[in-house]
Amino acid sequence: MCGIVGYIGKRQAAPVLLDGLRRLEYRGYDSSGMSVIGGIISMNFAQCGKLPNEIGDNLKMETVKATGKVAMLEAKIGNMNISSTIGIAHTRWATHGKPCDENSHPHTDCTGNISVVHNGIIENYQELKKQLIKKGHKFSSETDSEVVAHLIEEFSKKHDFRSAVLNSLKLIRGTYGLAILNRDYPDQMIVARLGSPLILGVGKDEFVVASDASAIVQYMKKVVYLEDGEVAIITSDGYDVVNIKNKQIEKKINLLDWDIEQAQKNGFLHFMLKEAFEQPESVKNAMRGRFSKTHGLARLGGLRYVEKKLKNINRIIIVSCGTSYYAGLIGEYLIEEYAGISVEVEYASEFRYRKPILDKRTAVIAISQSGETADTLAAIREAKLKGALTLGIINTVGSTIARETDAGVYNHAGPEMGVASTKAFTSQLTILTLLAVFLGRQRDMSLVTGQRIIKELEKIPAQIETILKQNREIKKIATKYKS
Ligand code: GLU
Repeated sequence: MCGIVGYIGKRQAAPVLLDGLRRLEYRGYDSSGMSVIGGIISMNFAQCGKLPNEIGDNLKMETVKATGKVAMLEAKIGNMNISSTIGIAHTRWATHGKPCDENSHPHTDCTGNISVVHNGIIENYQELKKQLIKKGHKFSSETDSEVVAHLIEEFSKKHDFRSAVLNSLKLIRGTYGLAILNRDYPDQMIVARLGSPLILGVGKDEFVVASDASAIVQYMKKVVYLEDGEVAIITSDGYDVVNIKNKQIEKKINLLDWDIEQAQKNGFLHFMLKEAFEQPESVKNAMRGRFSKTHGLARLGGLRYVEKKLKNINRIIIVSCGTSYYAGLIGEYLIEEYAGISVEVEYASEFRYRKPILDKRTAVIAISQSGETADTLAAIREAKLKGALTLGIINTVGSTIARETDAGVYNHAGPEMGVASTKAFTSQLTILTLLAVFLGRQRDMSLVTGQRIIKELEKIPAQIETILKQNREIKKIATKYKS
């Protein structure tokens, strides 16, 4: 699943969208693209301050795509002579069809009036495509995603934009984050989410939609997290969130707790290096205010309401993926050794499909940096269904797993852009250590042992600093052995 950005407001959309795509580049992708609705102007739009409403209603949907880096897309967009304040953009990680211009998003319908970007997989696309071809639709890509544009086109024959989208979603099986434009509704963008994250940034008379908060934070701090099954209809004046049956949903506005500096490289060569150097601070943040040295206790505010339940559990299953899985393995040693509770660590992708034996005395802990890892989320939902207590160790405040678990502890590591985890991993270990003390002290752990572990834990940020000071030597060794 890759990146989505959408903009509607008073600014030129294309620069905002390009900027958003660049901020999503760290996730990796193979191609990118953008659609805007606007008026043709004689000058290059980037040099032109004119907005579409000043140009009249000669509106047009313009779509540009490029294989490779966002810079390639940017070069193509430079030649576009359109002024627009509404648009959608995408970085693709191909699942259906090779990476090439035709398969890049956005995908349009037969008329070119409807444009769609999609993250995820439409599982029944072959079936839908066959039906649509029978009805005369012409497809121009190998992707699963293109069916969405044609489905909406088909329903638009009898319905308005909103109903056409809702009716289409009812037929789709699979996962999606979607952003959709329709040339006949030039002041509307519709977005929908099922199993693929989408966040709506709320500004003054402008909105940015993105699959990741790092594309929003430089424009606005207020956000609405869309849940699975929710659809937002956005205009430059406001937004409506409904479910697939068009029933209104009240949404809370949240504040992003990141700032733009945190999401930039600050002079480091790349994000991973910057984040490795942030570890003394991020490990400190993971433990700040979370222990009492005198009483040898861990104080985890996020577990306050489940403290009694935690006293009664006799088994823990940690579900996670990738680097978080390795953190889980260390957590297993810590919790078994210090709290005497039996722990199993499982790949979330296995756990979600098998038949786990769970009961009220089992706690299932999800570890995830983003809080959006699809398999980990599915594992947590499965565990909940079976009556287990679910907990999260999550870095991204307000993310789906953080919201869906019964309780949890945030890492407070700040955004981690590097795909190879550094600071998120060490902050997970910090929290797992605190959790071992928390659970251990509820059971047989002595005051002295609790005090000793906390005393040692507190020394770790300074020890990390000592190691990082040797970065020149480390670099020499790395260079010598890298191959
Ligand atoms: N399944 C879609 C495709 O292959 C979307 C992939 C993505 O999430 O980037 O085009």
